[in-house]
Amino acid sequence: MTQCYSMTGPLSEKSSSSYLSSNFGDGFLSDAVGQHAIVSVTDPKGKITYVNDKFVDISGYSRQELIGQNHRLLKSATHPPEFYRDLWKTIANGRTWHGEIRNLNKDGEPYWVKATIIPLLNDQGKPTKYLSIRTDITEVKAAESLKQQQSSLDLFDHQVYLLWPDSLEVFYANRVARERSSSLEMERSGYVPGLLAEGVTKADFEALLSPILSGERNSTTYYADVPLPGGKTFPAEITAQMIHPQEEKKRVFLSVRDISARRKVEKAKSEFIATISHELRTPLTSIIGGLGLIKTSLLNEQMGTVNRLVEISAKNAVRLKKLIDDILDIEKLEAGKMRIHIRKFDLAQVIRDSVTEISGFQAEKNVSVKTFGTTTPVMITGDSERLQQVMANLLSNALKFSHEGGLIEVRLEDEGENVRVSIKDWGDGIEDHAQSSIFEKFVQSDMADTRSAGGSGLGLTIAKEIVEKHGGSIWFDSEYGTGTTFHVTLKRCAVPLANNI
Ligand code: ADP
Repeated sequence: MTQCYSMTGPLSEKSSSSYLSSNFGDGFLSDAVGQHAIVSVTDPKGKITYVNDKFVDISGYSRQELIGQNHRLLKSATHPPEFYRDLWKTIANGRTWHGEIRNLNKDGEPYWVKATIIPLLNDQGKPTKYLSIRTDITEVKAAESLKQQQSSLDLFDHQVYLLWPDSLEVFYANRVARERSSSLEMERSGYVPGLLAEGVTKADFEALLSPILSGERNSTTYYADVPLPGGKTFPAEITAQMIHPQEEKKRVFLSVRDISARRKVEKAKSEFIATISHELRTPLTSIIGGLGLIKTSLLNEQMGTVNRLVEISAKNAVRLKKLIDDILDIEKLEAGKMRIHIRKFDLAQVIRDSVTEISGFQAEKNVSVKTFGTTTPVMITGDSERLQQVMANLLSNALKFSHEGGLIEVRLEDEGENVRVSIKDWGDGIEDHAQSSIFEKFVQSDMADTRSAGGSGLGLTIAKEIVEKHGGSIWFDSEYGTGTTFHVTLKRCAVPLANNI
């Protein structure tokens, strides 16, 4: 039978030895291959009959431990049984097999090899030996998997670092981390992100990470102010986790999340609770006191006093009801349960009704309200009750922040397909720093002033939601010290957003 001598085809025992000795002299080629690669020879049943030094080194087993064994000794759980079946089928049929194998060394540590297994055939074409030539590709594989891991880490919208557990040095920083850390710090060798958090030394950093470094816990979280280039800092939640990718060394995965928005909400929430308790207590105290006095007055038959006390009690009850309604509305909004019921109605009438709604409070402050464009009907489609709620809220804010004896102007204007309502006051206005967050829930521009004016900081959040659910928009112009104008535009034919009806 004619045999082929190429390294990619099978070798015949007789011809290969003559080929080697005639071309390179005895042992020359095998020495050269042996110095470059991990070489082993097995009998037809797969029993190891020869291993070179490189095989001994990488496997961690001694030559004596390997000879007589099967390669199964090195097998990892990475490849499915079909992988090995295909390998054996190929070489048993006299063909050469090429592929990448993940093995385990004597200590159970993985290593990857790129292998070529060549069957050595006898005259009948049957394999008498198998020669395996392998190269160590563990590092290439590690680099490949790191690259894959890194490109997915770039998708995170917060800072992520990978660190070596022993030195705590960063060996990878994702896109956001690279943008947010100054390049100088990143290039500094031995850069440890924990050192950058204000007041955190390397020893502190080690102590913070000790639960994961010691294996006591899988992840740990701490909070620190992390500096940005330019000297500013941001409050961060830092989570460290020990990860052990299949092909690679253990590493620390460190994620640094900016929690300033969360902190802001927490702060606003606690201020909200303080305001709410105050807001609930004040009218209740007044109602209780008023009712107590009514009882006494009735005994004394002082009807004038009774009327006044009933009026105060009623006003406080309205204030309390509004507060409770706002809380219920916010709950509905958050649960996505606020519905808009669309029908045709007269917006001019709704504005006149809203003005009447606040008239009791208006007289108290001696503020006059002038309306423009509300004498003739302006028919639009939408939820009249919800829109009246918006108008009444804007009007009561204008009234709250107006000065004694002030003026509020309400304008209803035709803008073709849209109508616009503007509510203008000459009160204190909204401070510049507060303007961007005025529509956020629980937010009140200045606690001291607003506390005296009353309110929950929920009204504008609800108003914005209602207007936007009608497909309209709400915004304001305000100058601190001069006054504020809130504008609402609505489509004549409201296009309710999905999920609203
Ligand atoms: P509140 O019920 O506390 O008034 P809103 O959400 O209606 O809540 O308003 C939020 C904050 O916006 C108010 O506390 C106030 O600080 C500011 N604000 C709203 N309208 C005006 C206005 N017309 N003039 C000045 N400040 C206003």
